[in-house]
Amino acid sequence: MKRVVVIGGDAAGMSAAAQASRGVEPVELVVFEKGDYTSYAACGLPYVVGGEVPDADRLVARSPEQHRANGIDVHTAHEVTAIDLDGCTVTVRSLVDGTTLRQPFDDLVIATGASPIRPPFANIDAGGIADLHAIPDALAIDAAIRDRSPRRAVVVGGGYIGLEMVEALLRRGIAVTLVEKLAQPMATLDADMGARVADGLVRLGVELRLGVGVEGFVPGADGWVQAVATDGGEVPADLVILGLGVRPNIRLAAEAGIAIGPSGAIATDARMETSVPGIWAAGDCAESLHRVSGRPAWVALGTHANKQGRVVGLNVSGTDARFPGVIGTAVTKVADIEIGRTGLSEREAAASDLDAVAEVIEGTSRAHYYPGGSPMAVKVVAERGSGRMLGAQIVGGAESAKRIDALAVAVWNEMTVDEFSQLDLGYAPPFSPVWDTPLIAARRAGERAAR
Ligand code: FAD
Repeated sequence: MKRVVVIGGDAAGMSAAAQASRGVEPVELVVFEKGDYTSYAACGLPYVVGGEVPDADRLVARSPEQHRANGIDVHTAHEVTAIDLDGCTVTVRSLVDGTTLRQPFDDLVIATGASPIRPPFANIDAGGIADLHAIPDALAIDAAIRDRSPRRAVVVGGGYIGLEMVEALLRRGIAVTLVEKLAQPMATLDADMGARVADGLVRLGVELRLGVGVEGFVPGADGWVQAVATDGGEVPADLVILGLGVRPNIRLAAEAGIAIGPSGAIATDARMETSVPGIWAAGDCAESLHRVSGRPAWVALGTHANKQGRVVGLNVSGTDARFPGVIGTAVTKVADIEIGRTGLSEREAAASDLDAVAEVIEGTSRAHYYPGGSPMAVKVVAERGSGRMLGAQIVGGAESAKRIDALAVAVWNEMTVDEFSQLDLGYAPPFSPVWDTPLIAARRAGERAAR
């Protein structure tokens, strides 16, 4: 029987293993995971810190024992330290007793994920400075809040993890300052939409330090952080959360001579096979195709990790499967501010040499006369001339962000904005105005694209 070895036991790796265990060709499956958990939803971590999810164990979809019961030979606390392509083996170190072993493979799945970026800031290892990437991080932040009752926290980085942690800390009664080097939070949005997020954060009582770069941290005599040193002065802090983005874990692949793509992640084809036959990559460590720009892209999201892992699992077990690519759809929220985006922003369209027009329309989530609606702004980006929908962004209140899904379907299928504005979408006053805001934004973008 073919032996498939998987490196990494979370979304991508265990999706691949679980799918392969049900494949048309029987395969032997061996998984190495350096942590203690398998198949956990990192996406839920901010809600463990915020308290909506009372217990981190609820994030675990399937434990190592459950996987083993399904015939997958899972080894937690085992780190793969090298890949030998000539010998078709991986070197594995036990993090329990330090012993090493060599594991032969026929096929190898690299699903090593990504790691948080930790710049060499002064005193970054002081107490009270945390990333949020895996379950132990959420437990450590929760313990720090319980033990030290911080009054002031600084979140460094205004991406989606930073914003979700702003909400979590506010829910824990902690005053929050957001320090962001760029002039806007949510750099995946255009500046005009990012400014709406900034306004919402100020409304929530968050102190915003935009355009401010962190230089280091100032610990107290007990080694615990007291302040964040920035190029705009010191910001007092009893707790610091770093949300500076992630980098793909490519070291093992690169050292083995597996090609790294232009995005910096492991290059793959549509079957998620790397430059070396029989070596596959999926999830946050892997590159995929951006369907709108037509260029290789690295979009580190759980939604892709699960789908790519499934594709790999099918391919290693006798079925020919393809991953069709990404369009950069994402949603998040911070308290009552919802954010959605798909496709290319105006800035990304320009970087992809596309001639784009855009329209921003403000509206409400329900008919104006129906109680309980909330405001939203929708931006639609279209290609000048053809009117092809290139992307869309939403910033608004409750019920707004998931409207991005309809826009994403249009972007995915290369619909024009005019076609989208004519779509037969559901309407009733509790759900939307009769002309829902995305439809109006698309129609206006179409008029602009035709000029
Ligand atoms: P990972 O989940 O990082 O798993 C990789 C695994 O490989 C890890 O368990 C690691 O320990 C193991 N590993 C690495 N190297 C080795 C080695 N050498 N040997 C053995 N094991 C190794 N995505 C969304 O789509 N929506 C969201 O709302 C969302 N929210 C998020 C919130 C937070 C706080 C975080 C951190 C992430 C969020 N994501 C979200 C992203 C999503 O969690 C990731 O895209 C997804 O977990 C990637 O899965 P993966 O299997 O590729 O990598």
